[in-house]
Amino acid sequence: MNWAERSRQAVWHPCTQMKVHEHFPPRAIVAADGPWLIDDQGHRILDAVSSWWVNLFGHNFAPIKAAITDQLGKVDHIMLAGLTHPPVVELSERLAALTGLGHAFYASDGASATEIALKMSAHSWRNRGRAEKNQFIGLQGGYHGETAGALSVTDIPLFREAYAPLVRLSATLPSPDPRHAAPGVSAPTHTRHAIEALANYLAAHHAQTAALILEPLVQGAAGMAMYAPEYLVAVRDLCDQYEVHWIADEIAVGFGRTGTLFAHQQARRADGEHVKPDFICLSKGLTGGVLPLSAVLTTDAVYQAFYDDRTVHGFLHSHSYTGNPLACRAALAVLDTFAEQDAQGRDVLSRNREAAERFHALTAPLRAHPRVKGHRHLGMIWAWDIDCQEPTFAARYHRAALDAGLLLRPIGTTLYVMPPYVLTEADQTHLAHGLVRVLDRVLADIDALPQAQAPVVPVP
Ligand SMILES: *Cc1c(COP(=O)(O)O)cnc(C)c1O
Repeated sequence: MNWAERSRQAVWHPCTQMKVHEHFPPRAIVAADGPWLIDDQGHRILDAVSSWWVNLFGHNFAPIKAAITDQLGKVDHIMLAGLTHPPVVELSERLAALTGLGHAFYASDGASATEIALKMSAHSWRNRGRAEKNQFIGLQGGYHGETAGALSVTDIPLFREAYAPLVRLSATLPSPDPRHAAPGVSAPTHTRHAIEALANYLAAHHAQTAALILEPLVQGAAGMAMYAPEYLVAVRDLCDQYEVHWIADEIAVGFGRTGTLFAHQQARRADGEHVKPDFICLSKGLTGGVLPLSAVLTTDAVYQAFYDDRTVHGFLHSHSYTGNPLACRAALAVLDTFAEQDAQGRDVLSRNREAAERFHALTAPLRAHPRVKGHRHLGMIWAWDIDCQEPTFAARYHRAALDAGLLLRPIGTTLYVMPPYVLTEADQTHLAHGLVRVLDRVLADIDALPQAQAPVVPVP
């Protein structure tokens, strides 16, 4: 039996209807280098989605490998209650210096970071004698992970519906995503409407509301929905006015993905100062996509609400692998990489700007494609909405792209690219050409389907 078949027998794959693998077995990857994956048949596949949005500098990135290897010779893992270690101290200091928010609390994945931020927010209000502030607000199309608490603020029906009875649903407010604008309503007016909806909700419900959680600038799972930074400035002001915490879920958009180190840093006031959330959730790119690690950063005010002689006023949450030293060293190597400049004096963010400009030019044919009805770009994220009604579009595109040597997973009928920051010009060209070629092939297949045929096998 080959790897794919053995995997089908033994492994329950995430976000997958396993029956689909009867016909389309998982690809077995046996090597990975830079943005390239190599399967057990020797095929090379360009990882254009950064292995689910986590990988920043390609696979097998020497500085991260060296940091982990060095740490393995010192301390592999220790518990973080009652003990500490140099990598977790140094990482926490550096994240605080970069964000202005300190008191880093660690877990191992994004959903756990969401859980921690929600629990911390509500518990901090309770410690201040305001236990009734225990409700949360999320945005339409928001995604914050899939544990029960995270699902309560996630508005993706496909992921939430089956578990709705298990979840204490939060309020869902209109997204500033201009694709939701009513016909004839401009994007700026739509943003204003979304702000008004938040203002009205808070005016009525602030006394019961602990926090608003959102993805700054880009709602990934909603199809890389992008919205104006002005919305975040209004969020900051309204949350201050009504004493509600703002949780910025930077799990996907952090670490340069939107062009700045953190996405919320693009939300600036007239004086040039950027707004600051009360909580920042980080994961995915935090370790360059090499080891699982997440962090929640927060304000002195929240931290002080727990600082007390009474044990029960402490934040007693824990995970066994909290602050894993190997993962912290990987994260430190990532921060070092962002801090470095090359021989021409360019850092990662400025090299990314040049690479993004080049890729943007290379994808002009896709923007002009007759079946592309909308397109978006910010930093190192590109998205194209395809004019197609076929529910199997995403699954068909994913399979056809693999055959063409590209790892791509459209969301519904939105095709998107979220590449590692290390694509060469040749890689970019391969990707840009492949995107159009695969699109034409898939649309031709779909257009040839007999009308009103039932979907073959629905796949997310
Ligand atoms: C991926 C993601 C999460 C969940 O992270 P996991 O590590 O998959 O649990 C939460 N929020 C956002 C915005 C994400 O993109």
